[in-house]
Amino acid sequence: MFTDAAPRKANRAQFLNSDRLKTLDLPRNARLASITELIERAMNSERGPDVRRACAEFLDAASSFYGVPVCGIRVLAARPLRVRERGTFELFGDYDPGTSMIRVWMRTAVRKKITSFGTFLSTLCHEFCHHLDFKKFGFANSWHTRGFYERAGVLYHHARGTPVKKLFWVPVAGGRWWIDWQRTNPGG
Ligand SMILES: [Zn+2]
Repeated sequence: MFTDAAPRKANRAQFLNSDRLKTLDLPRNARLASITELIERAMNSERGPDVRRACAEFLDAASSFYGVPVCGIRVLAARPLRVRERGTFELFGDYDPGTSMIRVWMRTAVRKKITSFGTFLSTLCHEFCHHLDFKKFGFANSWHTRGFYERAGVLYHHARGTPVKKLFWVPVAGGRWWIDWQRTNPGG
């Protein structure tokens, strides 16, 4: 998981704000966690319409908590072969800022294997955080900064009822960062 490089001029200040903003307010109840269980049950049954309904409920609840307009959701059986999300390829979902539409797919493009529930939920939270970048924080773009991944992780662990992991970042060429998964997930 790599971060984007900082823009040189335009929106550089916003990029740095996104990078620094490492946490999100969270609801003080278990509503998202209970909807997450519905998503998991629907995933296990492999019924697309049930998965879609549960994801929509999750996004409604999250949007209302964060005071942003609700975003749309499409759950697709398999990933389109080529998906470009603002210059990045994402494996399991995307977000269109023009239509506020999230798409997630239940199966991988090539082998048609079902996406693991953890990956699926983490994708949903990731795409919702793109929505928050535009609608809550008012950023002109939604970059994959360190802060972005931290915020998405905070939301994911809240939704799953698991403790937030400390992410270990390693600088790479071009002012970008990647997550050292061995240190982040020791033994896992
Ligand atoms: Zn993304």
